Amino acid sequence: MTTNVLRVARVLHGTTAEGPGLRSAVWFQGCTIRCPGCINPHLFSQSGGRDMTASDIVLGALASQVEGLTLIGGEPFDQPAAGATLARKAQELGLGVIVFSGYEYETLRGRGQDTKSFLASIDLLVDGPYQAWNQETDRALVGSTNQRFIHISDRYSSYRPEIAANRIDIRVLPDGSIDVAGFLDMRDLTNLLEATGTRRKSRRVIAE
Ligand code: SF4
Repeated sequence: MTTNVLRVARVLHGTTAEGPGLRSAVWFQGCTIRCPGCINPHLFSQSGGRDMTASDIVLGALASQVEGLTLIGGEPFDQPAAGATLARKAQELGLGVIVFSGYEYETLRGRGQDTKSFLASIDLLVDGPYQAWNQETDRALVGSTNQRFIHISDRYSSYRPEIAANRIDIRVLPDGSIDVAGFLDMRDLTNLLEATGTRRKSRRVIAE
């Protein structure tokens, strides 16, 4: 099955907080994994968010002159056909594709054709569920020690999460709220928002 329509919670073009280089980040709406301690339970429901086409997302990324897409969630592989379309279009136009999934690579490889097509259009997969009892303290971008960086192509083979820094993207919106992307744990996020006297609008999931 192919589809050009994705259910997304948020798209952020031109961020440096979601992987190497300047990126467009796409938060998928809906996650059936539901890890205990997930920082983004508001993304669990598949009825939230809005529909967007893969074409519009890729065109927005190109207009923002990003190096690539980061697909996070929610769970991108809960929408394998749409995810495959988005990733393929992005790669065809020269963009890199990084995907965070709460499923392990071996599980995904055993799934159907849509999932296989999605995997085939990814450069770097960060896999595994968030495990609150195995907090990561050394590597960038991931929240727990079980999560792996699996290079499906060599595009990001020089990326070293052991020495990379977590970056945070903070934007003040016209209504006075702040929009946060990047890696923060809940305590740091709460402290940040209290210090700035603003309220939470959205942020990146802490660990896929
Ligand atoms: S951490 Fe990711 S995979 Fe786990 S429940 Fe949250 S959104 Fe789903």
